[in-house]
Amino acid sequence: MINITEVYHEYFNISPSTAELAAEAERQIAKQLDTIAETVRHNSMKVLNAFLQNKISDSHFYGTTGYGYDDIGRAAIDKVFAQVFGAEDALVRHNIISGTHAIALCLFGVLRPGDELISVTGKPYDTLEKTIGIAPQRGEGSLIDFGVKYTQIDLLAGKVDYDKLEKCLKTGSKTSKKVLFIQKSKGYDYRQSLTCREIGEIVQFAKEINKKEMLSRDSDSLTPEREKSLKNNLSYNDLICIVDNCYGEFVETVEPTEVGADLIAGSLIKNPGGGIAPTGGYIAGRAELVRLASYKLNAVGLGAECGATLGLNKAILQGFFMAPHIVGQALKTSVFAAQLFQNAGFDVLPLPDQYRSDIIQAIKLGREEDVIKFCQAIQSVSPIDSFATPQPADMPGYAHKVIMAAGAFTQGASIELSADAPIKPPYVAYLQGGLTYDYAKIGVMKALQAIKALN
Ligand SMILES: *Cc1c(COP(=O)(O)O)cnc(C)c1O
Repeated sequence: MINITEVYHEYFNISPSTAELAAEAERQIAKQLDTIAETVRHNSMKVLNAFLQNKISDSHFYGTTGYGYDDIGRAAIDKVFAQVFGAEDALVRHNIISGTHAIALCLFGVLRPGDELISVTGKPYDTLEKTIGIAPQRGEGSLIDFGVKYTQIDLLAGKVDYDKLEKCLKTGSKTSKKVLFIQKSKGYDYRQSLTCREIGEIVQFAKEINKKEMLSRDSDSLTPEREKSLKNNLSYNDLICIVDNCYGEFVETVEPTEVGADLIAGSLIKNPGGGIAPTGGYIAGRAELVRLASYKLNAVGLGAECGATLGLNKAILQGFFMAPHIVGQALKTSVFAAQLFQNAGFDVLPLPDQYRSDIIQAIKLGREEDVIKFCQAIQSVSPIDSFATPQPADMPGYAHKVIMAAGAFTQGASIELSADAPIKPPYVAYLQGGLTYDYAKIGVMKALQAIKALN
């Protein structure tokens, strides 16, 4: 019989004591691995059902060129995503270049001058700062440049500040609408990610207050301005809830659109691309809102019915088909890393046995040199560019230097095993992805060994 400990040692220079710690951690997480398997089973059924109901066939694989009219594959992909996410409609495109782009399309699509954007989960993900205009540059065409009012409600001990949200919903212009922005995943914050259940509660709470507020205002005199806004397609009393769903897809058995969110957005080189989509992003939600977002991707009046897909429909469909399983592999990797590093004395978030709502595992290492070593170790056993040594560097859209381990088939794909860390206290490494648990486990063991120098 093959002695796995010897193989780890011979191929990857993983010491027998590290291998033993790994085996121990794996014994401790047996129950969580079962729970993950159940989630994967549930989500796989959702996805397969959508493939059957939409009669996916290989005629959907052949893409269009030029204007891209009558692309049946593109239309079918939108329907499959919409059905799985419990949404009226979806816009899934290879030329949505990233999650940030998808979210920006939602915000620019829905918000108009004078409207208010309320971020209820604190400062949005770093790359959105310039999109919104929080970063000090002016004149670049951010939302704030276009006259959108931005209000940020910081989290209170990692939870949504309901009092502040209520106050915020009860003030403001009578003629403009409000958009509530919720970031599901922790991003580069050391906090719990929101669950869909919590998102549902926030949305319900906010919509209820907004409705009451608007009804009470209806007793005011009807100014011409208000009358006009009432006639708008998007009614002024409609609170629109947009969720940054990056890293959240298929981690739970529901998506934010199934618990009341009006619009969600994410990246295809994260969870819903299943490690196969080579690029792209998606938006899903209420049909009228998806249409407005599509106008920002293309041009007003030129929405989802155009845009050549070239040859990418098959990869997007196959990736979505694989996604529930691949997300399961990534989740197993995260739980394993949580247990292994907790056993070694580090603070980890979430804890190994905590409910998860994204694929990210945060590990508080506490020292700059350790986050660097951690990321370098992950890179050293990645299938692509294993020989490269990542270094902290400035990245577009990020305020701090960031180190990233990304030995991925698809550039920057973080559904593949990857680790990144902003170079700032408390020096937390964020680990995510792993196309297969077996490969990813090797990376996690190497990372522990790099820091603990075990032998
Ligand atoms: C990844 C991510 C984004 C978008 O990042 P891109 O690199 O633009 O895809 C936005 N929000 C969160 C929480 C993320 O994790």
